[in-house]
Amino acid sequence: MKLLIVEDEPKTGNYLRQGLLEAGFVVDLARDGRDGLHDALSIDYDLLILDVMLPGIDGWEVLRGIRAAGKELPVLFLTARDQVDDRVRGLELGADDYLVKPFAFAELLARVRTLLRRGGRGKEPEFLRVADLEVDLLRRRVTRCGKRIELTAKEFALLELLLRRQGEVLPRSLIASQLWDMNFDSDTNVIEVAVRRLRAKVDDGFEPKLIRTVRGMGYVLEESACE
Ligand code: CA
Repeated sequence: MKLLIVEDEPKTGNYLRQGLLEAGFVVDLARDGRDGLHDALSIDYDLLILDVMLPGIDGWEVLRGIRAAGKELPVLFLTARDQVDDRVRGLELGADDYLVKPFAFAELLARVRTLLRRGGRGKEPEFLRVADLEVDLLRRRVTRCGKRIELTAKEFALLELLLRRQGEVLPRSLIASQLWDMNFDSDTNVIEVAVRRLRAKVDDGFEPKLIRTVRGMGYVLEESACE
């Protein structure tokens, strides 16, 4: 799941970004309205967290631009002012929810998860399954054959991506663009290492093997995978 935060206050932006990264999301951060609008229109995000008071063009304008372009991703507004007018205006413009600053991170995370579940693109599944592997997306728990598997946030995100696109060979560049931020250099072997670690946890000691390397092409997760 890839999120965009548009927030000009460095402290708030970095804090939100870090927290959401640790929660297992892929996060880009734009520092003003213009960059935010540009990113939101050119990159496929699952959710937008949008500050209202921004330099350049404000949150209202960003939201208007996004909706005018037909983008239906859920938008969570951050407003410093506890004004009924602001909330009404935001919701009228097509925001899905709002939070009044200051807020607790746990509150933001709960709203983000609810919005993603409701989704702009149909209902989110609660579980992803293949063979005896089960991923509980809400509780962020992975089991194989009923045995709990502990994954890092990045490993979880990688497994989720592979599972959502089961049977499809995913090139490294695609994995990089989904799981790392836009400045990530996909030529490094970071992805290879992440896949190897994930396989060790998910496939070692279990049959059938689910994650397979397709030489020169990428990685695929499928039940019929054979070496
Ligand atoms: Ca601001």
